[in-house]
Amino acid sequence: MEKYKVVIIGGGITGVGIARDLSMRGYQVALIEKGEIGNGATINSHGLLHSGARYAETDPGVARDCIKENRILKQIARGCIEETGGYFVLVKGDEEEYFHKKIIACEECEIENRVISKEKMIETIPTLSPRIDRGMAVPDSVVFPEKIVSATANNAKKHGARIFENTKISGVKKRKDSIESIEMETRGIKREIRGEYLINAGGAWAGEIARLLGSSMEMKPTRGAMVEVDHGVEKILNRCRPASDGDIIIPRYGKSIIGTTSVPIENLDEKNGNEKEIQELIDECALMCPKIKFARVNRVYWGIRPLKSVGTKRSRDRKEGRGFQITNHEEIENLISITGGKLTTYRLMAERVSDEIAEMFGNSEDCRTHLEPL
Ligand SMILES: Cc1cc2nc3c(=O)[nH]c(=O)nc-3n(C[C@H](O)[C@H](O)[C@H](O)COP(=O)(O)OP(=O)(O)OC[C@H]3O[C@@H](n4cnc5c(N)ncnc54)[C@H](O)[C@@H]3O)c2cc1C
Repeated sequence: MEKYKVVIIGGGITGVGIARDLSMRGYQVALIEKGEIGNGATINSHGLLHSGARYAETDPGVARDCIKENRILKQIARGCIEETGGYFVLVKGDEEEYFHKKIIACEECEIENRVISKEKMIETIPTLSPRIDRGMAVPDSVVFPEKIVSATANNAKKHGARIFENTKISGVKKRKDSIESIEMETRGIKREIRGEYLINAGGAWAGEIARLLGSSMEMKPTRGAMVEVDHGVEKILNRCRPASDGDIIIPRYGKSIIGTTSVPIENLDEKNGNEKEIQELIDECALMCPKIKFARVNRVYWGIRPLKSVGTKRSRDRKEGRGFQITNHEEIENLISITGGKLTTYRLMAERVSDEIAEMFGNSEDCRTHLEPL
């Protein structure tokens, strides 16, 4: 039997971020991923390295985390980021007051911002809609999810972490209130591994994993659509209005990824939405950049947000928040789950959960993930 200090389940950006953090602190770590690294929400995300401006007035805590992590990732993960900058734009008919509210909220969260005229914006993005009144420049950037997740996983391996891809959990042995060992299976080969602690970083599947391990956790996943269109923009465009569907256009390799939506789903296999959802997305984003309406659609893809249920009512909207939660399971004393959050805040999420693990082991080794480049 292989023995590790910590076994992580789920190899999205959260799981590999934790593997990196803990292995840099000197722990022996194994990570089990049922598919390939990053295959869940991570690769199927929009690729916006948030400045925090999107959340500044609704969730200042998340906004502050985003700007802090935005600055750190630009230092440690330069090869995974394109510093395009972004504009929040006010389309004719949008609430003027909201624009002012956004500026004040950004100031309060210490997010750099600058009001910018329509003429200046059109100089930079010639295909911007003439229906745009004005904008605000913020340090949003493009992050390439596939690059950052593999760079983080490779860095974790460099520090000694073992990563098992295409591996599923085929059995669990328990002793009293803790997990003694788990049986895992890689392409038909079974083996048993033991972790003194287990971390469930299964994203939208975290509820399923908790049940598999003998506990429970209610998730409230929502799916989001993204469309790659054959028309490039020079900067990230955000519609300046309360967060809604079809608000964001991201430049990527000369094309644009437009997104996104937020539809609650009961079943994780209901990942793909319908044509109507896609058309609405195109129509909304075309209000910022009309050429999008006529551009060829290269690709449509969907991701599932790993949101944990924090309220009682089932909402259609974005009220579940974009913060993250660390759950200590009462039924199983050596299991922790981490859910929610953003790709932008993954390093911080890993730091917080690793701090908890370090405290449980009575280890005072500090986090170094913000200091060393990937
Ligand atoms: C549509 C959409 C757009 C987004 N856009 C952005 C954005 O622009 N900027 C931003 O900062 N954030 C964005 N996010 C949020 C971000 O993508 C997620 O918060 C982040 O990727 C979650 O990572 P994760 O590792 O927690 O989950 P995931 O990436 O889903 O990883 C979970 C992993 O667990 C694995 N797994 C599941 N069950 C098991 C099992 N039994 N055994 C082993 N492994 C298992 C899965 O295969 C998966 O790889 C977006 C999310 C969505 C859905």
